[in-house]
Amino acid sequence: MGVVLHTRAMRRYSYWESELPPEVPPPSELPARVDVLIVGAGFMGRWLAWFLSKLSNPPRTLVIERDRFSYGASTRNAGFLTCGQASEMLADAAEVGIDRVLETFLLRRKGIALVRGEFPGLELDECGSTDYDEVTQQTRELVTALNRAAGEEVYSVRTAQLGDDVRPVVFNRADAGVHPVRLLRALQDGVAAEYAFGVKLLRIGDGTATLATASTQHELRYSRAFVCVNAFAGELDASSPVQPGRGQVIVTSPVQTQTDQTLGYLNHGYDYFRFVDGRLLLGGGRHIFRAAESTRELEGTPAVRDYLQQLAQSIVGNSHWQIDHHWAGIMGFIGGSHLGGSPRRSVDASTEYVAGFGGMGVALAPVYAQQIAQELK
Ligand SMILES: Cc1cc2nc3c(=O)[nH]c(=O)nc-3n(C[C@H](O)[C@H](O)[C@H](O)COP(=O)(O)OP(=O)(O)OC[C@H]3O[C@@H](n4cnc5c(N)ncnc54)[C@H](O)[C@@H]3O)c2cc1C
Repeated sequence: MGVVLHTRAMRRYSYWESELPPEVPPPSELPARVDVLIVGAGFMGRWLAWFLSKLSNPPRTLVIERDRFSYGASTRNAGFLTCGQASEMLADAAEVGIDRVLETFLLRRKGIALVRGEFPGLELDECGSTDYDEVTQQTRELVTALNRAAGEEVYSVRTAQLGDDVRPVVFNRADAGVHPVRLLRALQDGVAAEYAFGVKLLRIGDGTATLATASTQHELRYSRAFVCVNAFAGELDASSPVQPGRGQVIVTSPVQTQTDQTLGYLNHGYDYFRFVDGRLLLGGGRHIFRAAESTRELEGTPAVRDYLQQLAQSIVGNSHWQIDHHWAGIMGFIGGSHLGGSPRRSVDASTEYVAGFGGMGVALAPVYAQQIAQELK
């Protein structure tokens, strides 16, 4: 029987997705049984397969992905390898307390170290990040607390240029830019896990998964399953606490600008930018269009594109550039909140969801993947 793998209109590729590998047909056969089933080939699923394959006695692992490579957040994000910026953390501290903020900061630092340690040859843009929001006394106190928790100076207050404006900012020297598709490909290359693309999970629980390609259905038995579908968890499990949040991104034509060439944050981190191949990459607007962006639809909208275009003018001026790329990705927020809690949620003795990384998955996914692999060894 035929199953619709995607209900989406024509796919608008992200800047990074020009480096997707060639499409392969769905497998003609799938195993009847595996030790570990991983659903979803974004950062979480791939990092988990990576660390499992490094165990001294690796389990037989199958990664299934309904897309040709990955289609959610991981190939469509901004590629900030970041442990967090001050203004967003101040807002988080007011909501969930400073201890949770420091704990997440240290997890993200660990994740950055894992990316660097596992892939020493991966090219990173070692530019640091700049938070352009106002530097207040509270900001300075947070900077002191973060540096104390890190045991070294990660954050410092300095001046930076944004458009024509020079202002005090918080600079983070540990952050870097990554090409997400290159990292995702590196995670897949050379691992023992089997990958099956164009295969969708329909149902899962108690050791049995029902999978579908465009033309067939298949029952698979597993010892352990990890459902790493992030924002799409609610499609499989009505009780999932993960809520979707769309993020939209533009990339301009090449630009000349006085703005500092670091990763940049504006408006409590809701807006963010970096420079890639001499172009401005700019994302955000969710705080303005919150209701419309609470969706799993992977299409951009003219309203957010216009917002980003205006914001781009304050960063690079308003002449001699155009928008060359515009796309959307979908984040998953636990309880709809930025720091909603652990993404790990067991639904039975052998089946666990690992979903809901919000805007932090590039650094956090490796940490959770390593933790799970250590538990299974
Ligand atoms: C616009 C945007 C910008 C962002 N910028 C950053 C950033 O700069 N830094 C950062 O740290 N984080 C950023 N994020 C967040 C980060 O991208 C995510 O936290 C991370 O990619 C989540 O990875 P994941 O593997 O959990 O989810 P995803 O990448 O969404 O992967 C889930 C996969 O599951 C697959 N899937 C879904 N349902 C099924 C099914 N039934 N069967 C089979 N497969 C299925 C999907 O096709 C998808 O490939 C951003 C997100 C967005 C949207």
